Amino acid sequence: MSLTVEVGFTELALRHRWTISRATLTSKRVAIVRLSWNGLAGWGEGAPISRFGETADGVPAAVAGMAPLLGDDPRRYRAILDRLFREVPGAYGAKAALDMALHDLAAKALGAPLYRVLGLDPAAMAPTSFSIGIDEPDKVAAKVREAPAFATYKIKLGTPRDREIVDAVRSATDRPLRVDANEAWKDRDEALAKIRWLAERGVELVEQPMPADDVEGARWLCARSPLPIIADEAVQLAADVPRLAGAYHGLNLKLQKCGGIAEALRVIEVARACGLKTMLGCMIESGLGIAAAAHIAPLVDWVDLDGNLLLAADPFPGHPVEGGVLRLRDEPGLGVAPAGDLALRLEPTS
Ligand code: MG
Repeated sequence: MSLTVEVGFTELALRHRWTISRATLTSKRVAIVRLSWNGLAGWGEGAPISRFGETADGVPAAVAGMAPLLGDDPRRYRAILDRLFREVPGAYGAKAALDMALHDLAAKALGAPLYRVLGLDPAAMAPTSFSIGIDEPDKVAAKVREAPAFATYKIKLGTPRDREIVDAVRSATDRPLRVDANEAWKDRDEALAKIRWLAERGVELVEQPMPADDVEGARWLCARSPLPIIADEAVQLAADVPRLAGAYHGLNLKLQKCGGIAEALRVIEVARACGLKTMLGCMIESGLGIAAAAHIAPLVDWVDLDGNLLLAADPFPGHPVEGGVLRLRDEPGLGVAPAGDLALRLEPTS
């Protein structure tokens, strides 16, 4: 039985303009991969991260380049993915799409949800946070008021108005908050002062306060911060993790950053061995990419899988979120399929 590979794009329209410290988006183009084998379809999504020098436009060529390495039996996905990581540099968004599609297909071939193939209990998953982008303080507060009732909100900071934004959010909710500065606080004393201020306002952790390349600054801050400091931009692959021990309390891993589920499992194991906590995050992506991450989310301390909830419409309607917790349906593979009206133009790679 041969394996066929198709790839195309879909455009994700956002409910609100999305601003973080380095960029603003109103929609996002992502790549979709379909692997077909033995009458089954495996789906994957590539939503590459510009911060790491990748774009969705580069995914089809990268997928076509890797297609000859996939072999003809997706049930051997671990060996296939080892081969891709060994032989192809970079292209982590394309690797993530192929990795998801292989896991989807292999689990469908076994007739089980992926979490069951991996031996995980979806009921053990922590609640997910709901992210609020940068905006005028009153608009940030309005977004919190209209957001679904989640256990915790993740507030994007990194402007001169950070304190006004947090005060406005606090006027709208008394739930725990997480803060992501996306590397915006350049000075360690400024970062520590802001974190001490945030600790008095019900913030439970701070993500990437200072630039990723300032590991010494992070080590200084980690020793003094009253709140856990989480690496995001500072970590990509499992091999990056050991040097972050003592510089951060935990790390935020993402399938689009590390190249999929197989590498994400390595990141989690190395982080545990190094005494670091783990958060599983996402990009702006559809319910497909979110589902892939959700299947391994029972392994992490903090879940931040809301990328599809920020969309005006989800081309791969995701697993439901109930009371802020992702509830994985008991369906084979990743458990998601394209919406009936999705006009996906996929092209074979050969
Ligand atoms: Mg982040």
